Amino acid sequence: MLLDGAPIESSKVGCNHHIMPASSDPHYEIRDAVRALCAQFPAEYFRNVDAEQAYPEEFVRALTRSGWLAALVPEEYGGSGLGLTEASVILEEINRAGGNSGVCHGQMYNMGTLLRHGSEAQKRLYLPLIATGELRLQSMAVTEPATGTDTTQLKTMAVLRGDRYIINGQKVWISRVLHSDLMLLLARTTPLEAVRKRSEGMSIFIVDLREALGKGLTTRPIANMVNHETSELFFDNLEVSVENRIGEEGQGFRYLLDGLNAERALIAAECVGDGRWFIDKVTQYASERIVFNRPIGQNQGVQFPIARAHVNVEAASLMRFEACTLFDAHKPCGAEANMAKLLAADASWEAANVCLQFHGGFGFAREFDIERKFRETRLYQVAPVSTNLILSYIAEHVLGLPRSF
Ligand SMILES: Cc1cc2nc3c(=O)[nH]c(=O)nc-3n(C[C@H](O)[C@H](O)[C@H](O)COP(=O)(O)OP(=O)(O)OC[C@H]3O[C@@H](n4cnc5c(N)ncnc54)[C@H](O)[C@@H]3O)c2cc1C
Repeated sequence: MLLDGAPIESSKVGCNHHIMPASSDPHYEIRDAVRALCAQFPAEYFRNVDAEQAYPEEFVRALTRSGWLAALVPEEYGGSGLGLTEASVILEEINRAGGNSGVCHGQMYNMGTLLRHGSEAQKRLYLPLIATGELRLQSMAVTEPATGTDTTQLKTMAVLRGDRYIINGQKVWISRVLHSDLMLLLARTTPLEAVRKRSEGMSIFIVDLREALGKGLTTRPIANMVNHETSELFFDNLEVSVENRIGEEGQGFRYLLDGLNAERALIAAECVGDGRWFIDKVTQYASERIVFNRPIGQNQGVQFPIARAHVNVEAASLMRFEACTLFDAHKPCGAEANMAKLLAADASWEAANVCLQFHGGFGFAREFDIERKFRETRLYQVAPVSTNLILSYIAEHVLGLPRSF
């Protein structure tokens, strides 16, 4: 456009440069429907929720009513039985529309542990109600303050007495407990000293938060840089029925790892959505903002960082689809899911920086929503797994380099 000297037509820039025509995008219908729902919750809605540090209850209800959060629940349990690929498109579109899937993505994938490793009785009991949204399983409690990323060292203990486990310990950064009915909990059932491998001896439990809160479980919300509801948890002789253990005792860490590939691929998709939102926003602005008598986007010093960020977002999107396709085909996808998460988190962060930079001072104004999305996407460098830990996984498990810890 600029090479032949033609003037910029602002209607042709900005939005939709990476939306495939309906005929060539296999997910067009899903995208279209999620976009239509998100259009009812414009930027002001999320801006206000953020300013009030509130929970976007109406938005989550609308997503639930439309069945989007039950995408991964099989049809026999009342869900829509879609694949991870489609689920990733749903979350991508929410973030791409200016929202934040982080408020509810747990409802989509936490049930995977129950689905793959739960008993038939547990699945019949919980999954249909999770599918309708009558029960929210939005939380998963793994991280502990003293041990952090070194999960196998976690200190929370569940000791079997009769038909109940007595749980004591502490967790930190546990998201959405205040907007959840059920929570998955990883705790040690065999002390570290008594196991052959450190990854053994941990179990996963379904904790009914409605019964547990105030009766052995207390929570302390953590004010943080994102409008992300997350808490410290304190377990003081919390009793959980043996019927609430998922799968075999001692195998919880293995079950957890299984579910993490899905989580990583989905969060990669959210980052792709963020990245596309930032690129749309900055492309539009750079085409319209006139400084020195020309659009700032006419300067290659402005164009190139935007173009580079776009390239990286699109590359990350492909790796996301690769991870999802393998997952949906029940093939190993640890490498691809981790690479997708790393590439997408880096790309969305790069796009966020570029978007903020080329909005100049206006990028800092709340009404442009950039500073909010900037904070939201920054989280994915650290959670649910930090960039360094992904690199370490790739170095050791994909490339075969010596183990570092
Ligand atoms: C908003 C928010 C929501 C969260 N939600 C949840 C949740 O719902 N459930 C849950 O269980 N957890 C949750 N987390 C926790 C999150 O998963 C952890 O913060 C993250 O895994 C990093 O652990 P840490 O904070 O203990 O950091 P640490 O383990 O203390 O690590 C600190 C830094 O050091 C680096 N590091 C550590 N060891 C190494 C090494 N060997 N080599 C190189 N670098 C290293 C890490 O990469 C990291 O950047 C959440 C966190 C946040 C901030």
